Amino acid sequence: MNIEHLYRQVIMDHYKNPKNKGLVADNSYMTVHLNNPSCGDEMTVQLKVVDHQITDVRHQGTGCSICCSSASVMSVTLMNQSDEHALSIIHEFFELIKGYPFNTDVLKGDAIVYQGVAQFPARIKCATLGWKAAEQALIKLKEDARHG
Ligand code: ZN
Repeated sequence: MNIEHLYRQVIMDHYKNPKNKGLVADNSYMTVHLNNPSCGDEMTVQLKVVDHQITDVRHQGTGCSICCSSASVMSVTLMNQSDEHALSIIHEFFELIKGYPFNTDVLKGDAIVYQGVAQFPARIKCATLGWKAAEQALIKLKEDARHG
């Protein structure tokens, strides 16, 4: 089995059996909705942060396999991380997606399977949609905390 085949399998696995899928009706979560008109992807991400720790990550979307699987991988990757570390992880994921060197001490696990996406610029927005929503949620939570 070559590495690309393995990567594709991980992506299809998260697409068919997404982790942490489904939204909650709970206003202690920060909710961010984003769409990707170039592919028709829609993604909503909800984050719950308690004492700077991410205690839950939810996602719900419709779209291509890259977008939906990537949101599942994002939820697993960011779960139980501190808010600051989560922002670092997201930053490294964006580096990986662009085909740049990334910090393997920060970004680990299934997320690395998306490094092949760098060869397909049209799919970069698909792969990053859920991660961008999570980043915006974290930034909004930080702003809320600053303004009391
Ligand atoms: Zn897409």
